[in-house]
Amino acid sequence: MALIVQKYGGTSVGDTDRILNVARRIKTFVDEGHSVVVVVSARSGVTNDLIARAKTLNASPDEREMDMLLAVGEQETIALTAMALHSLGVKAVSRTGAQAGIYTDFAHTRARITEITGGDIKKCLDLGKVVIVAGFQGIDRDGDISTLGRGGSDLSAIALAAVLKADICQIYTDVNGVYTADPRIVKHARKIPEMSYEELLEMASLGSKVMQARSVEFAQKHNVVFEVRSSFNNEPGTIVKSEAPSLEDVVISGVAVDRNQTKVTVSDIPDKPGTAAEIFRQLGEAGIVVDMIVQNISRGGKANLTFTVSKDDAVKAGKVLDAVCGKLKSGAVSLTGDIAKVSVVGTGMRSHSGIAAKFFQTLADNNINIQVITTSEIKISVGIFLEDAEKAVNALHTAFGLDAE
Ligand code: ASP
Ligand code: MG
Repeated sequence: MALIVQKYGGTSVGDTDRILNVARRIKTFVDEGHSVVVVVSARSGVTNDLIARAKTLNASPDEREMDMLLAVGEQETIALTAMALHSLGVKAVSRTGAQAGIYTDFAHTRARITEITGGDIKKCLDLGKVVIVAGFQGIDRDGDISTLGRGGSDLSAIALAAVLKADICQIYTDVNGVYTADPRIVKHARKIPEMSYEELLEMASLGSKVMQARSVEFAQKHNVVFEVRSSFNNEPGTIVKSEAPSLEDVVISGVAVDRNQTKVTVSDIPDKPGTAAEIFRQLGEAGIVVDMIVQNISRGGKANLTFTVSKDDAVKAGKVLDAVCGKLKSGAVSLTGDIAKVSVVGTGMRSHSGIAAKFFQTLADNNINIQVITTSEIKISVGIFLEDAEKAVNALHTAFGLDAE
């Protein structure tokens, strides 16, 4: 008999019919004799609605009050899920984050977990009850409700699985698992049966948002094996775990695309220590995340710096950089919108050669011009024009043998 932690996302508990479906699924595990802890999100759209309502009253709402408000969404679904289980004759009890002893720091709306006691979860399980825990929320040491950042129910589930030493952690969502590429872009995309934490992090940060990145980092740190699978069918999903020798045989796991990038070039800046530090410090202070940084060789004591930012931050980045150039008394800023970042990701890159050659040859064969290049141990990324993105992703998917038969 196993201890299973299951997490159901917002679409899986989107209305009462779906909650009943979730309850039926939970019951099958209970009937097999397993102990089940369930973490639920708010119904899809609820958290967004609550944020929107707060903003109609106050453009920058107090963060403690924000958490008080946002925690409401998950409190609805835990109670409804418990009631649905009761209607099926299954013993179940709901618990808030605080009742489950999920303690956090004081960073409201993006709190970090500092300790999990589990509250009386073990006791309830021993009494044969399913315990349904509100995802996304915790409590700080002053007794105030806190939340764990958007998508934080994933973190609640992974952290509970770690603390309870669960045998299995299942993340139920509205997709069948993690795919080799976005199936909306690549017709021949396949579900990846098994992948490493690192690969999922790369794929997720590159725009294939499946799980909250923090939760994957937490799973990696505490070695929590989990499965991403659909709550709408019974197909096996994607198992995510630490790198295993078998994973190394798979050289490339997937092709990811982020279609929301702007290329920023700051040209003619002084080629001396501190210039880049000043530029990135100012961007950092403005809360702008920077990606794909390259600096070219300097000529006549001047250098060019190129990087990408999210399209949403482009205008803000332009303003910040104009100010920096003013301060440096040199430099010019230019922005190129409609840039896509296309990446191939694979742990096997570490131990196989020729990946870069194949990557760039494939782009060349398709007449795709490259704006920026970056790499990590398990990833090669390029910034290209948005209009080339679909062609690039499909060509790379085929070239690296990822197409479904
Ligand atoms: N309800 C929260 C959100 O929408 C947490 C979650 O769904 O994981 O971000
Ligand atoms: Mg979610």
